[in-house]
Amino acid sequence: MAKIFCVANQKGGVGKTTTTVNLAAGLAKLDQRVLLVDLDPQGNATMGAGINKAGLPASTYEVMLGTSDVATARQRSEPGHFDVLPSNRELAGAEVEMVELDNRERRLKEALALVDKEYDFILIDCPPALSMLTLNGLCAAHGVIIPMQCEYYALEGLSDLVNTIKKVHANLNPDLKIIGLLRVMFDPRMTLSQQVSAQLEQHFGDKVFKTIIPRNVRLAEAPSYGVPGVTFDPTSKGAQAYIAFGAEMVKRIKKM
Ligand code: ADP
Ligand code: MG
Repeated sequence: MAKIFCVANQKGGVGKTTTTVNLAAGLAKLDQRVLLVDLDPQGNATMGAGINKAGLPASTYEVMLGTSDVATARQRSEPGHFDVLPSNRELAGAEVEMVELDNRERRLKEALALVDKEYDFILIDCPPALSMLTLNGLCAAHGVIIPMQCEYYALEGLSDLVNTIKKVHANLNPDLKIIGLLRVMFDPRMTLSQQVSAQLEQHFGDKVFKTIIPRNVRLAEAPSYGVPGVTFDPTSKGAQAYIAFGAEMVKRIKKM
């Protein structure tokens, strides 16, 4: 059965999608079977995996509403060598339409249960909000990966996310854990980055992943080609870091 992880942080632009897409591609390079679930109506992970979000025959939206299933809606990321449950703007409507449905925070969990034997990892790219969509991600997952930049305000907002995760753990999903904080867009030349990074290690100990993702322009360029950074330029520092992060995750799940 797959281990299921949400990549979450209610801030936008902190590297969630870059992390989800490149971790998926990095794990695929390590021969892991991966499904990426795009739970963000912006569909950035879908595009970044090389799938056109316009005119999807079926998507996360239909799966959440129960009018399609994962096996029908998923597509292959050819460059990334992983499967994708794609999304687009339609998914924004699900938030409202799900209000009427039973078990509305467990829709994704139930949908993934039908395919989880086919994968080693299922990675969920969450939208930048603590919304019903994110709640579905948290209810479906074994753990949360929190990407963050090592800047002055990095910790601000983290307590809201941690409190939400605690509530979900207590009331809805006893399996849920914070797997770790991932330092992304790291610039080792900045003293502030070094300081915040050291503070994170002090406060969160082994909840901070060993791998650090550097700021790397190749990672930022790759989405415009519809290719994960890991595939776009496998020798770049950013790609190498995400492959190393994949190896760190493979090790972690053996202990879970
Ligand atoms: P989120 O999904 O949290 O909104 P994204 O993954 O879309 O964040 O990242 C926000 C922006 O930062 C994007 O333009 C992305 O290309 C860029 N970016 C993310 N990680 C890196 C990195 N390690 N190096 C350089 N640019 C990055
Ligand atoms: Mg995103």
